[in-house]
Amino acid sequence: MAQLSDDCFAFNGPLLPVAEAERLIAERVAPVAGPEVVTLANAAGRVLAEDVVAPVDLPPFDNSAVDGYAVRAADLDGERDSRLTIVDRVAAGHAAKSALKVGQAIRIFTGAPMPTGADTVFMQEDCRLDDGAVIVPLGLKRGANTRLAGEDIRAGAMALPAGRRLAVQHVALAAALGLTTLAVRRRVRVAVFSTGDEIVEPGTKLPRAALYDSNRYLLAGLITRLGGEVTDLGILKDDRPALSHAIAAAAVDHDLVLTSGGVSTGEADHMRAALESVGRLVFWRLAIKPGRPVAMGVIRGPHPNPPPQAGEGREGADGTAFVGLPGNPVAVFVTFVRVVRPLLLRLSGALPEPLIALPVRSAFPYKKRKGRREYVRVKLRTASDGVIEAEKYAQDGAGVLTSLTETDGLAELDEDVTKVEPGAAIGFHPYVSLLG
Ligand code: AMP
Ligand code: MG
Repeated sequence: MAQLSDDCFAFNGPLLPVAEAERLIAERVAPVAGPEVVTLANAAGRVLAEDVVAPVDLPPFDNSAVDGYAVRAADLDGERDSRLTIVDRVAAGHAAKSALKVGQAIRIFTGAPMPTGADTVFMQEDCRLDDGAVIVPLGLKRGANTRLAGEDIRAGAMALPAGRRLAVQHVALAAALGLTTLAVRRRVRVAVFSTGDEIVEPGTKLPRAALYDSNRYLLAGLITRLGGEVTDLGILKDDRPALSHAIAAAAVDHDLVLTSGGVSTGEADHMRAALESVGRLVFWRLAIKPGRPVAMGVIRGPHPNPPPQAGEGREGADGTAFVGLPGNPVAVFVTFVRVVRPLLLRLSGALPEPLIALPVRSAFPYKKRKGRREYVRVKLRTASDGVIEAEKYAQDGAGVLTSLTETDGLAELDEDVTKVEPGAAIGFHPYVSLLG
């Protein structure tokens, strides 16, 4: 895959700020995934490969927004109620038999086409009936309770831009426009490994000093939810040649190789050297907590599927993306959100989807070091004054999985923050927004 050029992350500082990593990914990584066609039923979660221009007006015709009586505004008395003769009845899916003439009304139902001549609809709740006539009140404006052709979207207007990651509402819009298929990008292929002599597969016997693998399950779920296609390549030992061999082999038929564990500076942490023997490390320390060691790099190519963008100023691109995440599960989650998520979206041709932190009130004091971004797992509650506040989970270690299961999301404390007082506003990312 040729999405990462050899010099694309030239950064030599000690700790790379998160925003810088995200900016580099946005600027230097090219989409790899070519187009394919899917039916609407299979389109949710995919990335649009081409703009969708509305082929028809939506709605296609003027129609009533309520159940009631269609009238001509010109017939309405400006001083008192108006009495109009009911001459027809039109339900959704049918048309009125004749045009509306002076002094007439037509009984109409929601979604029925506006009869010729009618421009306004009174809600049935506001009307009185009297011997074949309807008495309508004062005060309704011309055009009230009607929906005009094309008011939602006009034929020829951009309905969905290329790069939109299709949520169910986007698929619904495509259906409303009469489309049956969409051109999307193929799924990004991601190889996932865990590493560590102590890591064993759930379902097997747990030896002394061993730990069941949770990271592969976390990562596979996160990747799938972002539209990627996961190849689960199991658990690797802390053995540099074996790691090198495994990631190089995985690079041949994947767009991204993702590992967890083995990236810090312990004697058993071989991932950095393993990568350097088969590719190039582009950064490996992020100004983030939890999760400081994150090895991002390129495994030497060539990738078997050169992207269509080749030749558009991306020559020199030379390999498969590699990200080595830390081992602790909470650090895996946080660094996935901040590094892998934007990288995966970019590889898949998706438009950037910045994560916007929602302001909530902190219920806890906190001290932190300047210069790195911290993520605190918090639970929300409504305080006695009605304001939503965030409570910090007591055990905040990067290995404490229950800090993710017993909370609602991450509080994000920026680089320049050194302390948080209870009552201060902090930024909050709900898990639902991070997971999708
Ligand atoms: P490491 O970065 O390899 O030193 O790992 C840091 C911590 O994360 C260690 O306590 C590991 O046992 C733990 N860890 C590493 N990989 C996994 C995994 N796949 N599942 C659960 N815990 C892990
Ligand atoms: Mg390890």
